[in-house]
This record gives sequence, structure tokens and C-alpha cells, in this order.
Amino acid sequence: MIFDANELASAVFFFDDQGRVCKQLHISEFEAVVDGFVALNDLRAQEARCAYAEIDNGLNVRRLVFFRLPINDSGEILKAWGLPLADLAAEGAKSRDLGAGPVLMACYSKCPIPHLRRALWDPELSPNNNMLLALKRAAAENSIGLQFREAEHRPGAEVGADERLRLEQELSTRLRKEYDKDLRDRMAQLLKEQRLRIATMNSEFEKRSLIMRRDFELESEALKQQLHVKEQALAQALNQKQELSEDLASQADKLSAVREYFTRKIDEARGSEEDNIQVLRHSLEAEYRARYEGRNRELQEALQAKELELLYRNEMEDQLQCELARLRQEREQVLTDSGEQILNRILESGLSLVSFQPGLTNMSVPINELADYLDDPEAYAAGQCGVSPELYEAWLEHYRLPVCRNTLDDATLCGENIDRIENPMDFTVGESDCCSKCRAQLKRSQLKLASS
Ligand SMILES: [Zn+2]
Repeated sequence: MIFDANELASAVFFFDDQGRVCKQLHISEFEAVVDGFVALNDLRAQEARCAYAEIDNGLNVRRLVFFRLPINDSGEILKAWGLPLADLAAEGAKSRDLGAGPVLMACYSKCPIPHLRRALWDPELSPNNNMLLALKRAAAENSIGLQFREAEHRPGAEVGADERLRLEQELSTRLRKEYDKDLRDRMAQLLKEQRLRIATMNSEFEKRSLIMRRDFELESEALKQQLHVKEQALAQALNQKQELSEDLASQADKLSAVREYFTRKIDEARGSEEDNIQVLRHSLEAEYRARYEGRNRELQEALQAKELELLYRNEMEDQLQCELARLRQEREQVLTDSGEQILNRILESGLSLVSFQPGLTNMSVPINELADYLDDPEAYAAGQCGVSPELYEAWLEHYRLPVCRNTLDDATLCGENIDRIENPMDFTVGESDCCSKCRAQLKRSQLKLASS
């Protein structure tokens, strides 16, 4: 849209929380937003602080209205909102000069229509953040691209000033109408397209839902069939269960009767069986008792026989002992008698019995002691020497081999040659058969034992 050189262009500026200009809209774009064709998605759910500005062809701000704009969650302006922005601007109070004389301004504290003041706000004018200067800069930058025609100078064609003004206004009005019509046509076209799209989507949705419903019905039918089959199977199973239960009950009854019958039978059988067992036990006891007694008797008899036999044997042994003693006596008598006869004859003939025993000079043995001598010559000789047979035996050993018989530490005999003792009466065991060395050692150890 191109404005005439003497016309004022309109725009709306949005401020953020820090008071900076964050958004700029051409008035026609703002009207589209107000009519609900375009949403302010970046400003949804807030009350935006805005400034309506009228700007001349020198890009100077001439009129201002600071107003609040309520925006809902969808980014649309609330339907109830509506302010006569151009009227408020035209009737605004004179304020500071922003480059082309004093600006006409409407805000909360300077509102020409008092009942509308609550819809307005006061701009910050501090040196750090002067919103008027910010608006002046934004207008000068012209980032929304406002366009004005060049002022025509036709000195040749002199037209009256009133006529020229009228023509200009007529032209402006016509152009604005054309622009509005063009905008409305485009919006209508856009709306038509959107409606068509919505209709297409609806029909698509209906088609899909129809297909889905058909699928669902088919599936539902199949499930119903399955359910029916299952129900039939269930009914059949229930019937079978009922039959089986009845069968089971009758079987249980029968079983109970049979059990009762057999219980009775067992009781009867148990009674007669106990009698049989009693009889059997008695007969077995009698049999075992008879067998035991018989065996006992046999054993008693055998024992008596053995005792008799033993007695007889003892008697026999006594007799045999007596016989043996008698026979021994007889033998000795016989020996004595015959020996005496022989010896008497020997003595009569002038011979005598002499024995040679070690330790004794010629030992004559009288006839009556001959038996004793013959029984044990060494014991006899010991008696003749006047020593005990044990001492005589020890001496005899020494006499035959005169060596030291002391046992050394390593359990061997000393074996040292010593002097022979000729007479058994002079012999002392452990002393006479020891060498002088062993004797001294023995004496030492005895002394040691005594002292300890
Ligand atoms: Zn020795």
C-alpha cells in the first residue's frame, strides 16, 4: 500500500517486558489480526503493551496511542476488544516534539475519552529507557516498509488549492477502497480454500472411520462366533461334568456298600482266626514242652553216665598210682637186693667204691648211699663238701673255666682269666668269679648308690 505524500501512514508497535520494540505491524496486517484471520502465536496468553502510531512521509511520528491488547491461548485477540485508535490519536494531547512538531498522544494519564483510559497505559520516559525515542527510531528505520508518493510540482497546471485537496482525498479514498477490496478478496479466497481443505479432511475422515467401523464389525462378528462356539463347548462340558458327578456319586454309594460288606466279613473272619491261633499256640506250646523235656532227660542221663565214668576213671587212676609206687619200691628193692649181693661180694673180695669229684679228694661211697649217689652225683658231692647244690654248681662252672663272669655295660661277659678256687667252701658267687678290675668297679658303684 502506497500513501500519498500528504497522507499519514498507520502502524502498530509492540513492546516487550524490557520496554523495547519487539514487533511491528502495518495497520492492514493489524486489522487482519483483529478480524481473526492471523494469530499472534509469539504473544499468546498475555496482555501486550502496544502503540498505535501515525507517521508522515518524512517518517516522523505525528500521533500516538498507547493501548493494551488482550491475547488468548491460541494467539487470537479477544472478541470483546475494540478501540477507536484513529479517533483517540486525533484527539490526543500535545506532547514532545519527535522531529515534526509536537506529537498528539493518548495514554492512561492523558486519555481524551475518559471511560477508555483503563485500556491505555503510560509509556516510560526515563533517560535509560525512553519509549518515545524508541518509537522515533523504529519509525525512522521503517522496517515495515511504509511507502509514500513523491510530492508533485506542476507549475504549468494551476489548480485551485481546494480542488487539489478534494482530488487527493478522492483518490486516497478510492485507493483505500481498492486495497480493502483486494485484501477482502484474498482473505475470502484463503477462507474458501481452508473450508475446502476442511471439507476434504472431513470426507477423508468419514471414509476412514467407515472402513474402520466395517473392520470392527467384521472382527466383532468373528469374535461373537468364537464366543458362541466357546459357550456351546462350555455347556457341553458342564453337562459332562454333571453326568460324571452323578456317576461318581453312584460309584461312591456302591463302594460304600462293598466296604461295609467286607468290613463285616473281615470282622467275622478275624473272630474265627483268633480261635484258630489260640488252638495252634496251645498245641505248639505242648509240642515244644514235650520236646524240651525229652531232650533235658536225655542230657541228664548222659551227664550221670559221664559222672559215673569219671568216678570209675579216678578209681582206676588211684589204683594205677598205688601199683606204680609198689612197682617202683619193688624195683628199688630188687636193685638194692641184687646190688647189695654184688657189692657185698665185691667188698668181701677186698675192693671199695671210690668216686672222683672236683673239690673232693677221693670220696668213698658206702653201699647204702649208693642209690642217692646214682640219683644225682653232683648233689651228693655238694652234700659231702658241706655246701648247697646251687653253690656247688656255680663253683663247678668256675672250676672248669676260671674266667671273670661279670657282665659288662654292653651285656657281654668280661672273660678275664682269674685264679682258680680249689675248694667250694671258699667260693662266693659274684666275688670269687670276678677279676680285680670288675671287683673294684662294682665296689665303686655300690658306694655311689649308698651315698646317693
Ligand atoms: Zn672281670
